[in-house]
Amino acid sequence: APCYLNGEYLPLSQARISPLDRGFLYADGVYELIPVFARRPFRLDAHLDRLQRSLDGIRLPNPHPRAAWVEIIRSLVDTAPWDNQSLYLQITRGAGTCRDMPFPEASSPTVFLFAAPLAEPSARQREAGLKAMTVADIRWGRCDLKTLALLPNVLARQAATEAGCDEAILLRDGYLSEGASSNIFIVQNGIILAPPKDHHMLPGTTYDVVLELAAQHGVPHQIRAISEAEMRTADELWRTSSSKGVLAITTLDGHPVGRGENAGKPGPLMRRMHAWYDDFLNDEIRR
Ligand code: PLP
Repeated sequence: APCYLNGEYLPLSQARISPLDRGFLYADGVYELIPVFARRPFRLDAHLDRLQRSLDGIRLPNPHPRAAWVEIIRSLVDTAPWDNQSLYLQITRGAGTCRDMPFPEASSPTVFLFAAPLAEPSARQREAGLKAMTVADIRWGRCDLKTLALLPNVLARQAATEAGCDEAILLRDGYLSEGASSNIFIVQNGIILAPPKDHHMLPGTTYDVVLELAAQHGVPHQIRAISEAEMRTADELWRTSSSKGVLAITTLDGHPVGRGENAGKPGPLMRRMHAWYDDFLNDEIRR
């Protein structure tokens, strides 16, 4: 499959970067992952807006105007062999002439994109829900920026995988931040609760979609900090990301989520949200 590297389209196997690249040495860069459904990038403007926010946050000038990004993305999406894709986009501060922390005086950013087939949720994940475990959120103070420094997320996901879980949920000072690669919502007495977009979580594009759908369908929802205790006693626990959409988490740290006949199963509000989200995606594709 082709990739894009610094102005050139070439096979991924031929792409080369310098070992002095600051992305490699310091994780000095940002990224986006844009899912593509039926060859249409999902909420492209929202992803490019978030990219701009991340670039501003690390003081890296945007190497391309929006029209150029749209053009690069269009070329890659059109030449990739899959209808549903996951388009990865990364920008680093490039390579200096030596290993030195301050920004190099003359360096050009490294711009890299490649498309892969989209990993969609399995029927089992949709119908039975996911297993999750909690881990301490040991990340830095700007989790709202989508930077390359993902080691805490990697360790959290590996711990979850070793425990037979699909996702790790990060807790900081007794409060829910987000998943290792997702946002987390709870449902309590028919109300959807979402943590606020602060420095402890990434502002998810799907997070916005879920709140828009809740508003459209008249479901009460509140944005406020969610304590660990509230999460552990929630009626429903939800996970959102743009590549996998909205999924129920039905087991948390080995215990079933929810009570009574819904314990350990996707709850009634998730079943409605699944239908709304499917309709929303179909509309996006047909638009
Ligand atoms: N939080 C983290 C840490 C992520 O890596 C992601 C990315 O998928 C999300 C949240 C969800 O964001 P989005 O809905 O834009 O995919």
